Amino acid sequence: VDLAAVDERVSGCRACPRLVAWREEVAVVKRAAFRDQVYWGRPVHGMGPADARIGVVGLAPAAHGGNRTGRIFTGDRSGDWIFAALWRAGLANQPTSVSIDDGLELTDCRIVAAVRCAPPDNAPTPAERDTCSPWLARELELLPRLRVLVVLGGFGWSALLPVLARAGVEIPRPKPRFGHGAEVTLAGPGGPLTVLGSYHVSQQNTFTGRLTEPMLDAVLTRAVELAGG
Ligand code: SF4
Repeated sequence: VDLAAVDERVSGCRACPRLVAWREEVAVVKRAAFRDQVYWGRPVHGMGPADARIGVVGLAPAAHGGNRTGRIFTGDRSGDWIFAALWRAGLANQPTSVSIDDGLELTDCRIVAAVRCAPPDNAPTPAERDTCSPWLARELELLPRLRVLVVLGGFGWSALLPVLARAGVEIPRPKPRFGHGAEVTLAGPGGPLTVLGSYHVSQQNTFTGRLTEPMLDAVLTRAVELAGG
């Protein structure tokens, strides 16, 4: 089984009734600005090569972003932020991400969501997070060179730690706390793995200045440094 097979498989997942209903309803009702487009309306898998040393873990697709375009973080303001930052860090070949055929490619980086279906109000429940966690686990297992994980927001942090623990990564007690700039290096079966925290690139954070471009750049620069330059 490779990443492409997992990507294909997750696209058909219907395990969370509330999220299945929402992603499909949004795809029919649409936003006025996109009414001529065919929405994806299904789970959104990760993006980036299998030899990535850096993983970025987000929250969930946006109703009119990834749930519309079919590509993670593509077609919304959060995506504008993260892909521009990945480009500045040398991990993307272009700073914008508007549609699945816009030519965007990532290098040494795989970006995934903790929950793969768009939730109402961008808020999955803890039960939905846990139901989706085997997909996250499977995807991380298939990244053998992974050395650094950048987690965007506390929700992704809470989703990731149990997944890592089940994969044999030693999680200290008390559990490492999420924060912007948090950094913890864990002992994993395949060697050390560093987890970095960043505030999420949501408009709530970027419009208010809680997260600035230099703050995000600092975390990604650190990730590149830890991954080996
Ligand atoms: Fe499946 Fe995850 Fe979507 Fe739930 S959120 S339906 S587990 S892909």
